Amino acid sequence: RFISFEGIDGAGKSTHIAAVAAWFEQRGDTVELTREPGGTPLAETLRGLVLSQPMDAMTEVLLMFAGRRDHIVQRIQPALAQGKTVLCDRFTDSSFAYQGGGRGIPEPQLNTLADWAQRTPDGWVEPELTLWFDLPAAQAATRRAGREQQAGETADRIETQELVFFERAREAFARRAAANPARIERIDASLSVEAVWQQVLAVLVRRYPA
Ligand code: C5P
Repeated sequence: RFISFEGIDGAGKSTHIAAVAAWFEQRGDTVELTREPGGTPLAETLRGLVLSQPMDAMTEVLLMFAGRRDHIVQRIQPALAQGKTVLCDRFTDSSFAYQGGGRGIPEPQLNTLADWAQRTPDGWVEPELTLWFDLPAAQAATRRAGREQQAGETADRIETQELVFFERAREAFARRAAANPARIERIDASLSVEAVWQQVLAVLVRRYPA
């Protein structure tokens, strides 16, 4: 199975991906934990470029989808073929949120690129479940600031965008969720870590009964 995790930066998805991995492993699954942008040597190289070099929105989205294609073909499909549970930190919904909502690339163009990247000789590759960690952009910004202070993390090129960028990204996630209700489960990520985890757990138990 293929599950993705989405949300604006600071939503807390990384914390919960580790817990979801442990949950599946406890049930005997072999978990393949991966992320986008990145996930393969080529796609990680592209990630480094995208997050450090100034570039126009179209270049950015082409590199994102090029990395995604490599990730799908080199890593996600082989893992799925081996029966693994693939957990991916961000996938195509992030492109609709960041390059679409954030940077203004029209949705029809993103759909075309998704078709290029996700259609393979073995079929269409898409998560069967997406956990969308949703919270207001201002709250996410506060969390990012705390994280940077605590862990000494430095913000990348995209994390330093202004609040309205993240608000537009959030709205784009909401449109994706409305258009894909069977796949995307909204998690209220504005609550405490424990309260967020309880929502995640409820979705897992409902979708994957023992
Ligand atoms: O989730 P993660 O922190 O690994 O993402 C790295 C950066 O790439 C973040 O700043 C995220 O907002 C950005 N990103 C993006 N477009 C995507 C995926 C991620 O701008 N499609």
